[in-house]
Amino acid sequence: MTRFARYAVPAVACIALAGCANMNMDSMTQAGGSLFSAASLTDANVKTLSDQSCAEMDKKNTVAAADSPYTKRLANVMSGLGNTGLPLDAKVYMTKDVNAWAMANGCVRVYSGLMDLMSDDEVRGVVGHEIGHVALGHTKHAMQVAYSTAAARGLLGSLGSPTLTALTSSQLADLGEQFVNAQFSQRQESAADDYSFDLLTKNGANRQALASAFRKLATLDGGQSSMLSSHPGSLERAKHIDARLAGGK
Ligand SMILES: [Zn+2]
Repeated sequence: MTRFARYAVPAVACIALAGCANMNMDSMTQAGGSLFSAASLTDANVKTLSDQSCAEMDKKNTVAAADSPYTKRLANVMSGLGNTGLPLDAKVYMTKDVNAWAMANGCVRVYSGLMDLMSDDEVRGVVGHEIGHVALGHTKHAMQVAYSTAAARGLLGSLGSPTLTALTSSQLADLGEQFVNAQFSQRQESAADDYSFDLLTKNGANRQALASAFRKLATLDGGQSSMLSSHPGSLERAKHIDARLAGGK
C-alpha cells in the first residue's frame, strides 16, 4: 500500500460519515500508525472492540434492572424482531437522552428517554433500524472510524497493531463514546430504514409505527443525539415509509 493510500482511506470515510469535524491532516498524520491498523481491523478485531467497549459503556451507564418495567418493555419489543440471524443482546440505559444504538457484536442499547417518548411498536421500528446498521455492515465501518478518530485525538496513546487487548478501560470508554457519536451517511440511514421496514414485515409487526416514530423524532430534530441529527430529516423518512406502505411493498 502506498503512503498516500494509507492516509486516503480514513480521510474518505471521514467525509462520508461527516462525523469527524475535529480531525485534520496533521493529527491524522501523527496517528498514522494507528490509522493504518484501524483501516485493516479484521471482523474479529471489530467484534473484540465491540465486546469491550459495550462492556465499558454498560459500566458508565445505569443499566435497567431485570425486573424494571423498561426491561420488560424491551423484551416485548425484541420478541417482535426475530429472524435477523444476529446474536442480539438488548438492554436499557436509564437516561433522559433520546437515543438507541447497536454494535457489530449484537450489543443493542435503548435509552429510557426514547422509550418514554414512544410506544413499544415505535421503539421496535427504531431498534429494527439500528439492527439494520449492524446487518448492513455500517456499524463495523463506524467502529473502524471511531478507532481512527480516537487514535487521531491521541486517546489510544501511541499504539501499533495488534494491541487491541492492551486498551485500558478509559480508552475503551472513549472508543465507545466515539462510536455512539458517529454519524452515518444519508444512504446508510435510508438503507437502515428500509431494513427495519422489511424486518417488521417479516415479523408481522406494526410498520406504521416506524413512520410515527420518525414523526416523533422530527419534533426533537436538532438535538444532540447522533440519531436525531441525521439526514435525511425525520419527516422525509416518515414520508418514505408512508410511500412504501401505500405501495404495498
Ligand atoms: Zn441510523
